[in-house]
Amino acid sequence: SHRRPEGAAGITITVANFKGGVAKTTSAVTLAQGLSMRGHRVLLVDLDPQGSATTLFGVLPDAEVDVEHTAMPLFSGDEESLQYAIRTTYWPNIDLVCAAPLLYNAEFILPARQSKDAGFEFWRVLDRGLDATREQYDVIVVDTPPSLSYATINALMAADGVIMPLPPSALDFASSAQFWDLFSDLCNGLIRSRGKNKSFEFIDVLLSRVEASDAASSVVRQWVLEGYGDKVLPIEIPKTAVAATASAEFGTVYDLPRGSVNSKTFARARDAYDRMCELVEQQIEAVW
Ligand code: ADP
Ligand code: MG
Repeated sequence: SHRRPEGAAGITITVANFKGGVAKTTSAVTLAQGLSMRGHRVLLVDLDPQGSATTLFGVLPDAEVDVEHTAMPLFSGDEESLQYAIRTTYWPNIDLVCAAPLLYNAEFILPARQSKDAGFEFWRVLDRGLDATREQYDVIVVDTPPSLSYATINALMAADGVIMPLPPSALDFASSAQFWDLFSDLCNGLIRSRGKNKSFEFIDVLLSRVEASDAASSVVRQWVLEGYGDKVLPIEIPKTAVAATASAEFGTVYDLPRGSVNSKTFARARDAYDRMCELVEQQIEAVW
């Protein structure tokens, strides 16, 4: 069964990459939906001030999100647990912590707190804030902004597993390598400075928005496979009009009614996401 064993904590998965437009949000939301359809209770935490994941759940970050719907009170120290921010959504078994532009303040408040109090661990605020939450959910998926921001660092330090979506284009590959290096240096630096250990149960590179017939992209795919080896998930998410149509309607392939779009492409896109969820679920179950 897909049930979390008695006493096992929920698994936190952070979806991250330096770059915008690499399908972080699409992957995070689709993963949340796919895992919930496989019987898991999921919390989606949107940490990108742009609030794209929030928007996909039909909530407008500018107009409809108040500060107490977001992680901001946690980052500013007004709250110690993220529990206060959790909302239900239209999707069964997915709850949401929203994002809004005001989340940018985390980038000023976290370093300010650190400078006032040398013992303050700015990178562990989310990790601590999720302590109570990990008992309540099977999986916590965190969507992040396209930068190695304080918010992203918190998301990485709270994570058991990391997914880095990566379209097979030369520029995306180059910047992903930078992300990878900085991310490793950063984790190692924080570990060394505090004598604590931070390791991940799994790190996945997800080939996203792959154009099947594109010669250039198959060259870069080869680089990705050589560079990241067995970290690359054995699945590619095809670039399809279906995914674009879905997001134009503020949803994902899992939101589109069957028959509303070209059924062959639809099946291909959906199968790829199903397989992605299955592969991630296997890694989650291996941790449990
Ligand atoms: P990020 O969060 O990394 O900025 P998004 O998930 O918002 O990336 O995706 C960027 C754009 O690419 C969006 O318009 C989205 O609809 C589109 N997109 C994502 N995945 C696919 C796909 N498999 N096929 C076609 N378009 C996609
Ligand atoms: Mg995004």
